[in-house]
Amino acid sequence: MNAGIDSVVPAGEPWMGVVRRGERFRIVDLEGNQAVDTLFYNADDTHEHYSAQNTIQAQGRIYLTTGSVLLSNRGRPMLRIEDDTCGRHDTLGGACSSESNTVRYALEKRYMHSCRDSFLLALARHDQGMTKRDLPSNINFFMNVPVTPEGGLRFADGISAAGRHVELVALIDTLVLISNCPQLNNPCNAYNPTPIRVMTRAS
Ligand SMILES: [Zn+2]
Repeated sequence: MNAGIDSVVPAGEPWMGVVRRGERFRIVDLEGNQAVDTLFYNADDTHEHYSAQNTIQAQGRIYLTTGSVLLSNRGRPMLRIEDDTCGRHDTLGGACSSESNTVRYALEKRYMHSCRDSFLLALARHDQGMTKRDLPSNINFFMNVPVTPEGGLRFADGISAAGRHVELVALIDTLVLISNCPQLNNPCNAYNPTPIRVMTRAS
């Protein structure tokens, strides 16, 4: 059993940690309207990871909230959302990158911080042999990506608020990789990236 995680992740920073089977993992949107790009891996075999496709297909809806079971690329339940005071989390928007910042906004945005770079920085720091090939499509906790009637995606103003949280129970030992999104060019962070708090507790 872990001693227990209780960390504040500063605005724009990555975070990585292990949540043991049966523990509850809580992410708190401390100041509100923060997008938290997150990936989950089997802690014992990181080739097994969260799968957006399997999760969406199994639950028959695109948003995540209480009761959602996050499935791996091998179809195994990894975590279940037990508590959610925000109410909606995105599965489709993916992570911002220098490339998407360039295409969506402007050429000179290329060198701004991005979630993809934060993910890669965390993988390099933790030195577990993981590379960009280990970055599948991620969850955006607290991020609001409504789908238009035509099937388009919009990055809309957030529906989260200061102090709202999402809490998951780990069904296997899980490696968690977070980019506390540094994006400044769309309303996913209300144009103002802010800190989050991550915590574990025994269930
Ligand atoms: Zn981002």
